[in-house]
Amino acid sequence: MKILIVEDEARVGRFIERALGEQAYTTRLVTTCAAARDALADSPYDAIVLDLGLPDGDGFDLLREWRASGFNEPVLVLSARDAVNDRILGLNLGADDYLPKPFSIEELVARLRSLLRRQSTAPRATTLEHRGVRLDLLARVATVEGRAVDLTAREFALLELFLQNPRRVLNRTLIAEKIWDASYDLETNLIEVYVRRLRQKLDQPGAEPFIRTVRGAGYQLA
Ligand code: CA
Repeated sequence: MKILIVEDEARVGRFIERALGEQAYTTRLVTTCAAARDALADSPYDAIVLDLGLPDGDGFDLLREWRASGFNEPVLVLSARDAVNDRILGLNLGADDYLPKPFSIEELVARLRSLLRRQSTAPRATTLEHRGVRLDLLARVATVEGRAVDLTAREFALLELFLQNPRRVLNRTLIAEKIWDASYDLETNLIEVYVRRLRQKLDQPGAEPFIRTVRGAGYQLA
């Protein structure tokens, strides 16, 4: 389990990092909105602990962006603002829980564990759809405008990854980790080959390509 901690108070951040490390979670601590955006674009996380008052912005803006881009994992908001309105706003924006500062570290660990447990048993969407392309995850069937398309298991997994992250730019490292379990040589152009095959199978004549290349960054659904 990999947890992203977004907290600009060094002492609090290290305290959380140490407590989660003791529970055998892998953690990454960042102290700004910009670093949090980069961290999430770089690598998948199972949950986020998010402070609201950050030096370059508001944690609520990050939360709003992440949920809009399809990030579904639990987010536990930490805040010195104990106002009821903040709590309601946070939950409306898609926070899974809200812990006012100061908090006890035992409570933070317990709440996070409960969120992760709930997440792993929650029913997931069984169909994903974008611009006429539809994946039925149970039947393992892909269709374009209702017409069935033959995909190999890897092509299916790659398309599923894109559809689960509809607005996000997926970099090659993340794609390799998710689809090839990182036992993958990034020097090869295997990802390009697979993306090209998906385009051939999914693109409609005259329409914008279904998957666009973002130069120097990766790929994104168009
Ligand atoms: Ca803060």
